[in-house]
Amino acid sequence: MTETEKGGTSRPVGLGLTGFASAPAADTLAKLSDVERAALESAAELMTGRRLVLLTGAGLSTDSGIPDYRGPTSVPRSPMTYQQFVGNDQLRQRYWARNHLGWHRLRHADPNAGHFAVRDLERAGLTTGIITQNVDRLHEDAGARNVIDLHGRYDQVICLSCRTVVSRAHLATVLEELNPRFLELVEAAGPVETAPDADAVVEQEALIAGFRMADCEICDGMLKPDFVFFGENVPKDRVADAYAMVDAAEVLLAAGTSLTVMSGLRFPRHAAKNGKPVVIINRGVTRGDDTATVKVEAGVSESLTYLAQVLPGD
Ligand SMILES: [Zn+2]
Repeated sequence: MTETEKGGTSRPVGLGLTGFASAPAADTLAKLSDVERAALESAAELMTGRRLVLLTGAGLSTDSGIPDYRGPTSVPRSPMTYQQFVGNDQLRQRYWARNHLGWHRLRHADPNAGHFAVRDLERAGLTTGIITQNVDRLHEDAGARNVIDLHGRYDQVICLSCRTVVSRAHLATVLEELNPRFLELVEAAGPVETAPDADAVVEQEALIAGFRMADCEICDGMLKPDFVFFGENVPKDRVADAYAMVDAAEVLLAAGTSLTVMSGLRFPRHAAKNGKPVVIINRGVTRGDDTATVKVEAGVSESLTYLAQVLPGD
């Protein structure tokens, strides 16, 4: 997706644009403490001459203004399950009302220095691929090529009956026609928090109760964002592709993920079981810390920028 396609200059108020994408790397690197640098040096030593597979999570996108609902400072949040979404009309209506608002914010997010560093590692021939748990498409926006969107993508919607996929941008125009004043009325009520899956907190019950959902234009089936909900499995083919990326690599680097869900945790466990070093970059404890050969407790953007600078290319 190009910058122009992402919507030009009209950005909604309250969006956390950091400007990291255009900041010089030196500014990003200046954020590293001596302790953090030492840990990164150990990580770089381990990675030198070895091909990497990257596993990334929400912590990578916080510098793009997308909050990480599992991060150390985040407010606990329980996302809607697949069973709730398909089984309860009222909950689904609430979901779409919030997603309608959240999508408008998420689509304006830009990749940050961390995403560009990952792209640089790939361009230098150092990676077998990138597995991301994020649905925000910021790796692709930064120019990375070999990316598996493990949990799907926020910019598409799928019909649960005929499996037709349409763009979320198209659905946005349909929802806007069905709910002409919705965004205006919500925005008027004050700042809104948005989650990494485009879920936004809309508290006005009357607005939610009046929200009109859209069905599949082909078969009238139920539409769902094309990403994996809690209580839903990652498609088997996608998991197999991700394992193949891990098996082709010599080191697994997990960055910005607390590895809370098994759909991500299985990859460092698989790598470790096969005797491959695992490096974890994350502020705070992760569920995969017992698999880590080196753990780096530092910011994700600056750590990846550091590694992209020091690791010798192919
Ligand atoms: Zn359909």
